[in-house]
Amino acid sequence: MVATPIGNLGDLGARAAAILAGVDLIACEDTRHSRRLLDHLGLRKPLCAYHDHNEAQTYPRLLARLRAGESIALISDAGTPLISDPGFSLVRAARAQGVDVVPIPGPSALICALSAAGLPSDRFLFLGFAPRTSAARRAFFDQLAEEPGTLLFYETGKRLVATLEDSRAMLGERRQAVIARELTKRFETFLTGSLGDLHARVSADSEQQLGEFVLLIEGAGGGEGARQEREEARILDILCRELPTRQAAALTARITGGQRNRLYRAALTRQRSESQADDSSYP
Ligand code: SAM
Repeated sequence: MVATPIGNLGDLGARAAAILAGVDLIACEDTRHSRRLLDHLGLRKPLCAYHDHNEAQTYPRLLARLRAGESIALISDAGTPLISDPGFSLVRAARAQGVDVVPIPGPSALICALSAAGLPSDRFLFLGFAPRTSAARRAFFDQLAEEPGTLLFYETGKRLVATLEDSRAMLGERRQAVIARELTKRFETFLTGSLGDLHARVSADSEQQLGEFVLLIEGAGGGEGARQEREEARILDILCRELPTRQAAALTARITGGQRNRLYRAALTRQRSESQADDSSYP
């Protein structure tokens, strides 16, 4: 399992290059794409296509060759095999049959992004690509709302704005996030801000929708966004005890810069839960 660069060919490790030079066969997603990498290394090697659409038919043939004593390197178009890329069936079957599987570590967009984004990295959840439709994405983000670790997704330029919109709707305007774009390449960019802010900036700037992306969103309960949410809730709570709900929400919005409508809805929810608690205290 040989990791290859995610953009900058200088990131190919010496061990990866030596393995590619030494194996009998290289299995890759797109032979034309990988030929360019091998040209860069000055290698001429037999290549075979191994991708999502032929994985089921191809892995038994590769296994047979491995069992016959040949060595095969699996590479992806970019980054680490199996990370949102093909290879799982082959690795599982190889291990089950006692064939050696050796990882040659190197670039992966998710770790590359996490290492430089400035969001907590002690606990994180990688989710591959978010669902394609808005309804499925909203349900997906809703399920992640309480996840404490940093959330990481791969995203395409085509869906970036829609994914920011849905994550903002389900996780809140203020959740901090980072968009890591075109990592290791000429236009590498890190955009940092709240989901609301990033949605506005990326929607207004089509340049920021070009290329490849990793979207990182801070987990629930930590970081600046969560601190602001707690502060907002505290102020709303104090004002709701002294003032009519609408006025309490409007004042909280003025003090914290939060959205008035959202705060009004939060105040109503708070009021409802308080009156239920009062009701339940009577026999
Ligand atoms: N196996 C790869 C890895 O280890 O990172 C990921 C393959 S996945 C099919 C491709 C997605 O990874 C892209 O759509 C993008 O979201 C992300 N990606 C790959 N290269 C990237 C880069 N240079 N900058 C930002 N994201 C990248």
